[in-house]
Amino acid sequence: MDTTDRIQHLTAPASPAQQRRAMAKAITLLESTRADHREQADALLNALLPHTGRCLRLGISGVPGVGKSTFIEALGVYLIEQGLRVAVLAIDPSSTVSGGSILGDKTRMERLSVLESAYIRPSPSSGNLGGVAEKTREAMLVCEAAGYDVVIVETVGVGQSEIAVHGMTDMFVLLQLPNAGDDLQAIKKGVMEIADLVVINKADIDPDAATRARVQIQSAMRLLGMHGNPDHMHQDTVWQPQVMQISGLLGQGLDGFWAAVQEFERLNQANGRFAARRQQQATRWMWERIEAGLKQAFRANPAVQAALPALQQAVLDGQCAPSVAARQLLQAHAATVTEAAGA
Ligand code: GDP
Repeated sequence: MDTTDRIQHLTAPASPAQQRRAMAKAITLLESTRADHREQADALLNALLPHTGRCLRLGISGVPGVGKSTFIEALGVYLIEQGLRVAVLAIDPSSTVSGGSILGDKTRMERLSVLESAYIRPSPSSGNLGGVAEKTREAMLVCEAAGYDVVIVETVGVGQSEIAVHGMTDMFVLLQLPNAGDDLQAIKKGVMEIADLVVINKADIDPDAATRARVQIQSAMRLLGMHGNPDHMHQDTVWQPQVMQISGLLGQGLDGFWAAVQEFERLNQANGRFAARRQQQATRWMWERIEAGLKQAFRANPAVQAALPALQQAVLDGQCAPSVAARQLLQAHAATVTEAAGA
């Protein structure tokens, strides 16, 4: 199938089934590691671009068991009832390490997954976090071209995955349990700092504890300077990170949650931060890929491969300073690149 057909089936499908198939095929192509596929995938990506950008990208994170899938399912159903189309993608760093998965498999979100306006795709399971994040970003563009209004990217509170999700979404939401130890973890890891909205889930179990947690997190955010805008002149035009409590299980607080998301979007569109964040993300994405590509080329370079074992050993034996070894290897690499350019 050529790129034009692929785009046609995605953006103007003959039927919802054709679009679904086209999405699955496009994402599989983008996830492929074969060099000949990459060329087609790149052509597809660039052809997709004009059809993307109109949807809201929402990141949702939290520790295992906090209630992410319960909440995302309830939210997805709620949004679809309002006439929106919702895609759910996942970044699961555990799947790349252990082959297992913290986020679980396709049996999750059964109620949402049967709806025609929902599209759910589990985490890509090969490569490192950078690779998984890359594939998810590309899958997000496919969903956008297919006309989804909201793309939710879900991740677990493990390693750098939250930073990766924050780096590809318009709004980053952190789900928390109503207990203090949990907030300290998030604060320590710096995740609270990047949250646009903190949601205390399971408020139905103990509403008082949830309220205490909300007040505590609000004051912690204020102390850390994340809450409240130093420029008081702009209080009404700049989004203030908020803390709210909900019950994903009972579907309580969804109205308030969605109202906050819409207010965030309205303010950030009006003050220019929405577009600026996307531009920054695009630039950072490009540089991340350049760095990953350079690293790969460096490791694959025959001159580097030839010099590496002896230099590595010299570093281990204390015969050569690590920085000196690095410089020599970089020089070996640069020499072959210059040679190739001159040839
Ligand atoms: P995830 O690992 O973050 O995706 O968490 P799940 O959505 O799988 O939820 C973990 C457990 O918490 C499940 O047994 C849910 O039924 C339960 N749960 C999720 N949200 C709520 C809630 O708002 N209230 C209560 N009482 N239980 C919840």
